[in-house]
Amino acid sequence: MSETEGPERRDEPGGTGRPLVEVAGLAKAFGAVAVLRDVAFTVPSGSVTVLIGPSGSGKTTVLRCLNALETADAGTVRIGEVQLDYAARPGKRDLTRLRAQSAMVFQAHNLFPHLSVLRNVTEGPVVAHGKPRAEAEEQAHALLESVGLGGKADQHPYQLSGGQQQRVGIARALALEPELLLFDEPTSALDPELVGEVLGVMKDLADAGRTMLVVTHEMRFARSVADQVLFMDGGVVVERGEPEAVLTDPREARTRTFLKRVL
Ligand code: ADP
Repeated sequence: MSETEGPERRDEPGGTGRPLVEVAGLAKAFGAVAVLRDVAFTVPSGSVTVLIGPSGSGKTTVLRCLNALETADAGTVRIGEVQLDYAARPGKRDLTRLRAQSAMVFQAHNLFPHLSVLRNVTEGPVVAHGKPRAEAEEQAHALLESVGLGGKADQHPYQLSGGQQQRVGIARALALEPELLLFDEPTSALDPELVGEVLGVMKDLADAGRTMLVVTHEMRFARSVADQVLFMDGGVVVERGEPEAVLTDPREARTRTFLKRVL
């Protein structure tokens, strides 16, 4: 499971080599504060990209613009066949189409507390996609099994550990059948002993060929699972490359300063 996959696996089906995700010129200000300034990167299909950088550098905002939870001021985002030009002031339908291409796993505490684990996983497909409930439940049981929570379908979130709740969050994201999985510091709110089980599920997803963009401070995960690491600072991607290159021998002084603080 831990062996490195060859680059040929990373091409899109059809062998075109076109990346699944292309972001260019992404810019976003909150009031007078420019939070993203000309962010550009690509994510090859079937690969894992880890996004690192200091707090406030814009990482979460990038994920939110990809998922159209946030509307950028300018820039283009393409995920699969759906392209959005933020400068052209996209309408609600365009934003919804882009949103459907990805699913987000948040830091923590965003399951519906009053719903069972099963219902937490089925609500998206049933409500947003109109999937028949029986079909959604069958899929949810399989997904819960795959994240090691086969026996927890009828429990409520408060009956689960933080790590188990995050695994439900992952199953819920998978139930939306997205092209791209977005992770926003999925382990940062967990007690240290619960981090491994969540990273383990994420590694399984990577091994299964899922395309993932992960904001995390877990440098060991970045080193062992990522195909590329992006370092952000001040609203731009300052450096990108293979994990070994960026994390061990960074070109940019800003990357070196950041790594000295976190490693
Ligand atoms: P990171 O994920 O790298 O910590 P964020 O994308 O969360 O960075 O935030 C980047 C900057 O944008 C921060 O200075 C943050 O305070 C600001 N910011 C984020 N969301 C909002 C918002 N909704 N309104 C105002 N400022 C925001």
